[in-house]
Amino acid sequence: MPTLVMKFGGTSVADLSRIKNAANKVKAEVARGYDVIVIVSAMSGKTNELVGWVEQTSPLFDAREYDAIVSSGENVTAGLMALTLQEMDVPARSWQGWQVPINTTSAHSAARFLDIPRTNIEAKFAEGFKVAVVAGFQGVSPEGRITTLGRGGSDTTAVAFAAAFGAERCDIYTDVDGIYTTDPRITSKARKLDRIAFEEMLELASLGAKVLQTRSVELAMRYKVKLRVLSSFEDTDETSGTLVCDEDDIMESKVVSGVAYSRDEAKVTLVTVEDRPGIAASIFGPLADAGVNVDMIVQNISERDYEDYPGSVTDMTFSCPVNQVARAKQAMEDAKAKGLINYEEMVVDDDVAKVSVVGIGMRSHAGVAAKMFKALSADNVNIKVIATSEIKISVLIDRKYMELAVQALHDAFDLEKA
Ligand code: ADP
Ligand code: ASP
Ligand code: MG
Repeated sequence: MPTLVMKFGGTSVADLSRIKNAANKVKAEVARGYDVIVIVSAMSGKTNELVGWVEQTSPLFDAREYDAIVSSGENVTAGLMALTLQEMDVPARSWQGWQVPINTTSAHSAARFLDIPRTNIEAKFAEGFKVAVVAGFQGVSPEGRITTLGRGGSDTTAVAFAAAFGAERCDIYTDVDGIYTTDPRITSKARKLDRIAFEEMLELASLGAKVLQTRSVELAMRYKVKLRVLSSFEDTDETSGTLVCDEDDIMESKVVSGVAYSRDEAKVTLVTVEDRPGIAASIFGPLADAGVNVDMIVQNISERDYEDYPGSVTDMTFSCPVNQVARAKQAMEDAKAKGLINYEEMVVDDDVAKVSVVGIGMRSHAGVAAKMFKALSADNVNIKVIATSEIKISVLIDRKYMELAVQALHDAFDLEKA
């Protein structure tokens, strides 16, 4: 039997009637002759609630317990989806991560797949079951503890199952009907794309476009999974949604193909650190050990000589998710107490957002940065930090200008038009 993977996100399984709606889509694929692996998220809002409970209980929580708690939302939906399918006369069985087993590393809250043995699920298909409903976002570590894959991780579960089972396609059902030039909730001018290149989707995802988790795109690219994003609320067929595919399979070529944003960023500056070999390692080593995801980094050159700091000194600025500032502060204070680093002051601006433009065409086109900065200045948006790579330019700006900036850039690069 050919296998299909169908993933339903939080809003698509938000209540019993939506689970039923999703189950109907699964039933239709079973009727077409597929063995279906359904990956489900927690009901919408559930994971946030669980994360909130963890943070209220223990601000610098033990990541093992975080995973034990926040993975539970998916267990409920997996069971409910299996029951709903059974009520529709579709033989279905639910699977939690450890039952498959979905073997992952023990990097709690950011685990990666090691392997997904097919044996148990295949044995159930051989018994006559038509659907395996797998709880997304979770796995089990070599130590036998529950792990999670990072927020949005059910997308990655779906792609990993598609790769492991050689599925014909991996369909990601969500609350929008495809991948757009930018988040359609920020501007109604956002345009749906029929196709998008893996590289572009990878950048957009890692820069905040949460329609697909970054890691899911990486896996799909590596294992050549046919990955599609489509609506769970509309009638769909083989042509619906957006296909993520190789660059060579795309006709449309624009210099910039999308705008992404990440709302909850913080900018942290260590004022007056010594400018010596090894200083960056002594700052970013402890941050990494504390699990802080540092993104942009800027080191200022300063020639000032201070009495306390013979030789030259500099300021070091970095950005990280706003909810990791407490961890970052703690790590820097500990490093200072241990004499690894010294600084006069740690200045935190936790009111910033990151806005980025992405496009493969940037590799061969000059002037994208100038155009971007001009568009922002026309709206009086001040840029605080800039970072570039081959196919993206990102800026950190005041959070209150985020929507405005996304709209301005979408206009400036003419993304509304195909
Ligand atoms: P799910 O719960 O189904 O996993 P998510 O909320 O994680 O859904 O992702 C879907 C959301 O991603 C959409 O509702 C949309 O607001 C947002 N989004 C951000 N950028 C884009 C984009 N470029 N195209 C489509 N959706 C986007
Ligand atoms: N429920 C998890 C989250 O909200 C995983 C997912 O939905 O993909 O992050
Ligand atoms: Mg998601």
